Amino acid sequence: MSTNCTFAQIAEALRSHQRFVVMSHLRPDGDAIGCEVALALCLKAMGKEVAVWNHDGALEKLRFLPGSELIQRPPAEPLDFDVAIALDTSTHPRLGDCPAAVRSAKLWINIDHHISNTGYGDLIYIDSHAPAAGQILFELIRAEGLPLTQAIAENLWAAIATDTGSFQYSNTTARTFEICAELITAGVHVGKISEHLFQTHPRRRLDLLRALLNQMRFSCEGRVASFALTLATVAELGAGPEDTEGLIDTLRGTEGVLVAVFFEEMEQPEGRIRVSMRSKDPRYDVCKICAQFGGGGHTLAAGARIKGDLAAVEAKVLKAISDAIQQP
Ligand code: 5GP
Ligand code: MN
Repeated sequence: MSTNCTFAQIAEALRSHQRFVVMSHLRPDGDAIGCEVALALCLKAMGKEVAVWNHDGALEKLRFLPGSELIQRPPAEPLDFDVAIALDTSTHPRLGDCPAAVRSAKLWINIDHHISNTGYGDLIYIDSHAPAAGQILFELIRAEGLPLTQAIAENLWAAIATDTGSFQYSNTTARTFEICAELITAGVHVGKISEHLFQTHPRRRLDLLRALLNQMRFSCEGRVASFALTLATVAELGAGPEDTEGLIDTLRGTEGVLVAVFFEEMEQPEGRIRVSMRSKDPRYDVCKICAQFGGGGHTLAAGARIKGDLAAVEAKVLKAISDAIQQP
């Protein structure tokens, strides 16, 4: 395990260079997008040139965030930068096509809160106790006196609110609320941003949930709940990847359920099954279970991408969960 650098070292790297690229993980969530845009706006306010990339582009539902229009897919022709920064991304491959589009960078910075972070890069700052990478970014901005505008505050709020499950998960701390108080002072409108983040869904998301609930299954005497999304259903409903975010919480929130799993067929050429896992109890560490399949994440929320057809992957994963639950 590599040791962390200091915020001062990161701030010095930001101040002393000019051309930056900021990136985050594929299938981005609010933490990924919020961090990317917040840091990009911060660097721009410092007079820097910034490219903001994500393998999958921006999230439709986060278009309301100021600065989200900066996010682009990585270009086919690689570009030169002084500094490349990965945010909220536990492994290098989870940056997708972004690294290949960096022809040169003097320095790679890796800022993350995943306990499973592999410690890639030159300047590394991992805090697995932080509920969101956005919280680490706030601490960096505050400690080093970097710009914090209303737009930056809104993006940091989106990051923190997403990864704390709207301040409901046990990773939410007193510090989280102190930070959020400062973000409100910096201009965040709680009601408005919460409505965008949590109360605005396209109707097809509901259709998708209905299809999933129709074939959900329980195993291990009701302690494991799962459902699976096929490519056929995605095509039928015209659903996109971001429509599925958070649906797994319906399973997790069911009494008696310890572990919830969502299986999702991925398009060719990948042909893998994307597995999303949630636990309600740290004794059932889903990061460990996902690691058995080459994945990772956090103790209570993790994922993996597994080769094989849907039925085979379901059987394999449910067996691994059953084994983990049955352990004394
Ligand atoms: P989600 O289920 O919301 O996609 O992801 C939950 C958590 O698990 C996130 O922190 C995410 O970064 C992590 N995660 C999801 N899929 C993968 C994967 O394929 N590999 C790794 N290493 N982590 C993943
Ligand atoms: Mn995160």
